[in-house]
Amino acid sequence: MHTDLGNPKNTISIIQKYGFSFQKKYGQNFLIDTHVLDKIIAASGVTKEHLVLEIGPGIGTMTQRLAEAAGHVAAVEIDSNLIPILEETLGDYENVTIINDDILKVDIGKIARELGGGLPIKVVANLPYYITTPIIMGLFESGVPIDNITVMVQKEVADRMQVGPGSKDYGALSLAVQYYAEPYIVANVPPNCFIPRPNVGSAVIRLTRHKEPPVKVKDRELMFCLIRASFNQRRKTLLNGLYNAQELSFSKEEISSAIEEMGLLPAVRGETLSLSEFARLSDLLGKKTGGKKKYKFLKKIEKIP
Ligand code: SAM
Repeated sequence: MHTDLGNPKNTISIIQKYGFSFQKKYGQNFLIDTHVLDKIIAASGVTKEHLVLEIGPGIGTMTQRLAEAAGHVAAVEIDSNLIPILEETLGDYENVTIINDDILKVDIGKIARELGGGLPIKVVANLPYYITTPIIMGLFESGVPIDNITVMVQKEVADRMQVGPGSKDYGALSLAVQYYAEPYIVANVPPNCFIPRPNVGSAVIRLTRHKEPPVKVKDRELMFCLIRASFNQRRKTLLNGLYNAQELSFSKEEISSAIEEMGLLPAVRGETLSLSEFARLSDLLGKKTGGKKKYKFLKKIEKIP
């Protein structure tokens, strides 16, 4: 029988045994609530037929549960001080591979190939909040066949991922996530479920990858540029937002005629457009430039407005 690290007493005893000190810069808030842990595993739908990629196993609390449920678990942890702890807490599981690395630098495709052996992949994590967006976008854009991502994120970020036009939380993150997946908020989680307590509320969100994107667009990179540019300058009209964006070089006439062709008012704001409207705008602008690339795509999404 394994020591259940979801029990706060056991977590504290491991931390004391190794003299571990929490590093704020790595977003270390460990889960100490067995109900929340069970809910995450259940929502992810992990079975023995899956490879699970866990980001930031910490002391291995969720990893133990994942190892019981999954075919194999690949756990990527940046903090080398946690590795000896993980070797103890996960030592009895033969289906866990611990990788001491930065999730933003590892080759996820290689992990999938070498450890997955063709198994479908699920991502499960209590994410380090300071890099939520680049992690999630990096996973979607990696080309790895992930069927869902079930993660703990800041509550406000979970809300932004889920909403549509008309809400103050609607933004580039909502559109980027919804292009790739169907979001579903599984549970809200208060600060007292973690040690140390974060100073924000949290939520578990499941992102189920679409088999086919919900909209068809000729140039996905151009569409994402338009989305980012529109939300970068929220108080501006769509026309001015796109015209002033550094990464775009469309003329005012090209933009305003595309807006007109869509049947939108000249003073329309970007935050009122749906994903399919952004796709249409992208196709119209792409057509106007006759194949000439009028945007710079920032491959690494560090920040999404
Ligand atoms: N899974 C554990 C739990 O639920 O108790 C810990 C979650 S804690 C919120 C985030 C974890 O991610 C920490 O263990 C932290 O060291 C790790 N981490 C932070 N940045 C990382 C990165 N760039 N790559 C991999 N792991 C990272």
